Amino acid sequence: MSGIHEPKCPSCEIIGKSNIVSSKSDSQSGGGDPWFEIAHCAKCGHVYGVFAKVVNPPKQPKPFG
Ligand SMILES: [Zn+2]
Repeated sequence: MSGIHEPKCPSCEIIGKSNIVSSKSDSQSGGGDPWFEIAHCAKCGHVYGVFAKVVNPPKQPKPFG
């Protein structure tokens, strides 16, 4: 057991988390926030996954009493 388990790109076999970068989507919500982020290999561009951004709807504070 090495103890350290670094991610390895299945496509170009580069090792290390620092080689995984995320890009924001081009499409944006009305508030200017990107809809999702794409995690991909910095070297070959292999896509690890797409993550939906959590968009917080504008919330009204609950009025007291
Ligand atoms: Zn790669």
